Amino acid sequence: MFNRRSTCVSKVLFGLIVALVVADVSLAAESRQGALVVVGGGRLTDEIVGRFAELAGGPEARLVVIPTASSDGSIPDADAIAELWRERGIGNTILLHTRDSDKADEYAFVAPLRDATAVWIGGGQQSRLAAAYVGTKVQSELQALLKRGGVIGGSSAGAAIQSGVMIAGGNPVPKITRGFDLLPNTIIDQHFLQRSRINRLIEAVSQHPRRMGIGIDESTALIVTDNRARVIGASYVTVVTVPESGRPLAIRSHGNGDEFDLPDDTATPQRKKWAIVVHGGAGTVAQDASVETVQAWRNGLRAALEKGKSIVEAGGTSLDAVEATIRILEDNPLFNAGKGAVFNSTGGHELDSSIMDGRTLDGGAVAGVITVKNPIGLARRVMDKTRHVLLAGPGAEQFATEQKVDRVKNAYFSTERRRESWNRVREREANKPVTRISTARPWQYGTVGCVVLDAHGNLAAGTSTGGLTNKKFGRVGDSPILGAGTYADNETCAVSATGTGEQFIRHTVAAQISQLMRHRSWTLKQSAEYVLHERLNKGDGGVIAVDLHGNIEWVYTSPGMFRAAADSDGRFDIRIRDEK
Ligand code: ASP
Repeated sequence: MFNRRSTCVSKVLFGLIVALVVADVSLAAESRQGALVVVGGGRLTDEIVGRFAELAGGPEARLVVIPTASSDGSIPDADAIAELWRERGIGNTILLHTRDSDKADEYAFVAPLRDATAVWIGGGQQSRLAAAYVGTKVQSELQALLKRGGVIGGSSAGAAIQSGVMIAGGNPVPKITRGFDLLPNTIIDQHFLQRSRINRLIEAVSQHPRRMGIGIDESTALIVTDNRARVIGASYVTVVTVPESGRPLAIRSHGNGDEFDLPDDTATPQRKKWAIVVHGGAGTVAQDASVETVQAWRNGLRAALEKGKSIVEAGGTSLDAVEATIRILEDNPLFNAGKGAVFNSTGGHELDSSIMDGRTLDGGAVAGVITVKNPIGLARRVMDKTRHVLLAGPGAEQFATEQKVDRVKNAYFSTERRRESWNRVREREANKPVTRISTARPWQYGTVGCVVLDAHGNLAAGTSTGGLTNKKFGRVGDSPILGAGTYADNETCAVSATGTGEQFIRHTVAAQISQLMRHRSWTLKQSAEYVLHERLNKGDGGVIAVDLHGNIEWVYTSPGMFRAAADSDGRFDIRIRDEK
């Protein structure tokens, strides 16, 4: 039964070596008490509806129907939906729908889910479901419903959304975004045979080799209980997996009545509830620095870390934590961001900053601002209030006026310490003009950055700086460039960099770390170490980063880096020198 369709599938995959494997029938770890009914679209058969109604609790069921995948014109009205499900044996139905992700995060909006025994997610476009609900309370309530033994069913888009890595469209090249992650370690595809989607599922699984690809044909369903899947319906469910060795892919077909084990979700690394990392620039204090000097830097990092920690600990968002943490560092004259920024070649200060949201890949940045007290706040407003990503110079200043953010005279940023180091650098560079940035430059440390994973599973990153001492007027570094000094993607990691900005721009350092995780399936540690040690020059600087599971990394090739980290497992540490 298992191998019935595999010969025909392998023909379609000309050239690709396909290994047929017998389903492993060993019992998987029991991790989910509830049930899933995942339907490949097409006509809903009586058998599928009957099984869903039975799992939902029959006449006693309290069903929430989510029609959000439909287009605006075709959202059914609540009475029609109630009537439809009454005919199917479920009398108590509530319709839940919004396109507004803020609303989906409201306690009152998700109240029906807390009372439900079952949820049905209708078809349409899965990207509409993702845009409204991924990362919101709707998603966490669906997960809670499963934990308390409820059932979630969905057809077509309502099936695709059930995996964490979701195919949003595209064939044969899949467009991948995030789904609800109800069926861990899988990628679900639907209308599978009817729309010839084998190639896109193979591509998706190749990009995410630790996941099991599951292609479900129309009028066919997977009934999932206790990590075990059973096929019901007229056609087939095709399973694509990548073995440890990487090749050949294993593809097998399951027909009506077949059962197979799903990936053990306990094999997924436990995600920390939250994690936060802060940096205060590459470099370190002098070996002979006084205890007071060292303490002042440590206190600066501690105050910032505590602020961000208090926000994520209380369930706040990663974006809010990043912004608030960086504001503290910008206001502290020790750091090269906001007050205490370095001098440029004309004896003034030009500040750069950016922030990025890993949930949406939205970002905001400002470059070369001269009167904005907290550039990170203005960067956030570029993201939230405009359709742009980066505003520079006079335009950014004008935007600051429109937004009524706190303004200061340029001299506000000056400190004696920075003036002295500017004088030293000017003297040195007057004797020996610099045409290429030296990697062995004495560290004008103090750029700041922060990366956060919040309790909703969202990553964010931000960076703020005065740039390099004696930089040319108008020079923009890596800190406000998404992909160079700052990057966040919920599917991989959040990164903030510090060091010789030109090098970080050339090597798109922050984005490259994320891409190695995505395309090579490397860990955060492997990816960050490769980029810092193999792609950059020794002495170029460093990064702080956190991945989607809350793993924290800092990697640097400068002589030390000001850095601090905290997480929900109780970690709280602050480091300055090269100590491990
Ligand atoms: N990366 C910053 C820049 O080049 C400086 C630093 O991190 O110290 O503007």
